[in-house]
Amino acid sequence: MMEKTLVILKPCTLQRGLVGEITNRFERKGLRLAGMKMVQLTDEILNEHYAHLSAKPFFQRVKDSMMACPVIVCCFEGVDAIEAVRTLTGLTNGRKAAPGTIRGDYSMSFQENIVHASDSLEAAEVELKRFFKPEEIFEYNQATFDFLYANDEY
Ligand code: ADP
Repeated sequence: MMEKTLVILKPCTLQRGLVGEITNRFERKGLRLAGMKMVQLTDEILNEHYAHLSAKPFFQRVKDSMMACPVIVCCFEGVDAIEAVRTLTGLTNGRKAAPGTIRGDYSMSFQENIVHASDSLEAAEVELKRFFKPEEIFEYNQATFDFLYANDEY
């Protein structure tokens, strides 16, 4: 199924000058970039976004880390994009993430793990609405589309 998913390039990625390299990982996979912008996250939006972590001892620390500087929020689209992007992203703990994954290749940390990626269809829908206005998500033809998929794959 054709899906859209949210990716956030975290402050550590901006600070380490990895925005281009990480964006390239998703582009070369064949995902279509449907939206992209720089935003400064706030405590309010992070309370929503990381609500599932609110009881954890590291909740405030994770929020502070996400507010350390602006982030880049991205919407990528592709067939089964949510799972494909999570696979590309790797395990949460960068030290345990497999080599070849983004976190496996760029992170030594549980917290400073380069990207956020939506983990389910429901989450992707809610998260994209949280970070993008409808007019900030663009529908356009990907010139390479016919060479990325067989015609029974979408
Ligand atoms: P993921 O980002 O892989 O979906 P979670 O939703 O469980 O993982 O956690 C959100 C973010 O909170 C992680 O990406 C990471 O930055 C941070 N985090 C999660 N668990 C820990 C932990 N045990 N120690 C430090 N930071 C953590």
